[in-house]
Amino acid sequence: MTVIKIAVIPGDGIGKEVMQEALKVLNCLQEQDSSLQIETTIFPWSSDYYVQHGCMMPDHALETLQAYDAILFGAIGDARVPDDVTVWELIMPIRKQFQQYVNFRPIKSLPGITSPLARGNDIDFVIFRENAEGEYSDSGGRLYQQQPQEMTIQNTIMTRIGIEKIVQAACDYAKQHGKTKLTSATKSNAIIHSMKFWDEHTRKTVAESAPALQLESIYIDALVAYFVERPQDFEVVVASNLFGDILSDLGSAIVGGLGLSPSANLNPEKDFPSMFEPVHGSAPDIAGKGIANPIAQIWSLALLLGHQGRTDLEQLIVNAITTVLQQGLVKTADIGGQATTEQMGDAICQEIINRTITAGGV
Ligand code: NAD
Ligand code: MN
Repeated sequence: MTVIKIAVIPGDGIGKEVMQEALKVLNCLQEQDSSLQIETTIFPWSSDYYVQHGCMMPDHALETLQAYDAILFGAIGDARVPDDVTVWELIMPIRKQFQQYVNFRPIKSLPGITSPLARGNDIDFVIFRENAEGEYSDSGGRLYQQQPQEMTIQNTIMTRIGIEKIVQAACDYAKQHGKTKLTSATKSNAIIHSMKFWDEHTRKTVAESAPALQLESIYIDALVAYFVERPQDFEVVVASNLFGDILSDLGSAIVGGLGLSPSANLNPEKDFPSMFEPVHGSAPDIAGKGIANPIAQIWSLALLLGHQGRTDLEQLIVNAITTVLQQGLVKTADIGGQATTEQMGDAICQEIINRTITAGGV
């Protein structure tokens, strides 16, 4: 029996609260299915850790993580530590070291959840965000400090291989899921070096590896408007790091909010562990109140199990979440209810148990 080894990093704020519920779901699955062998190790790398040790994670943290099959991440961000430190010392090194160059974010309408859009039903697309290079770069710096001509340069780094790999991953997904159209976010009319390069290699990759796929390139400013006006038109969207980040928060918002949106940082070759985390951050405005929605975190766990080959368990969790939302009896504040984080986690576990009993086992 294979054991799935999961490194768990709850992080800060609501990250710790929602992670508790994902671990509860994991326990519940193990109780239902004795063939599911999971080993979890919790790593306390967070802003608390930074305050105590002066770093977000210890020296050999990445070597430690490499021994795991997957990483389940909560969220980070805390007023005591600058946001660029939490991001660049914890999340970025993991994404880069383990070549998690695909950030996969499904955007799907859910039953019982009202979209803020008038025509917000039947939304069902996925975003492939480039996750290892692009605009999120530490290349650049300040010049002429304290002088009138003081200035800063922030470089975007795009490589041919980097673009080919993310577009290839989007094409593979499209082919596997019977999708007919790929939308690429661009801004090559204004950002002439990086985005023209992006367009060129996106076009080439699609022509070579998925010629039957219809490719449309849309300027990012128009694309955000289309996400609001006609979100049903999209199937698979591929975008650079920054554009993909913005599009996926908007994508979450149009299907009901950040509390519902999972993501996967994938190394498709499986040479390294992939990392699964909600799209949202540590939500300091509601942290400590026990009211955060744990669905994004629990769904991220579902994506993790699917990536480890247990698509049956992924489907079981997603079905349980969908049923709980459809029934509408347990809702957290972000989706118009009064349930606590814990009550939502319990309701999803109960639904998993009900479904397992009805099916006579997992
Ligand atoms: P955020 O996602 O933390 O919060 C945005 C809004 O959404 C807030 O009003 C929050 O209450 C709400 N929200 C988020 N998740 C929710 C949930 N599960 N249930 C209910 N409501 C939820 O984004 P922000 O406010 O821009 O950032 C806060 C901190 O999080 C910052 O320090 C930022 O750097 C960090 N951050 C971390 C990550 C990450 O860990 N990957 C991602 C984004 C932001
Ligand atoms: Mn984001």
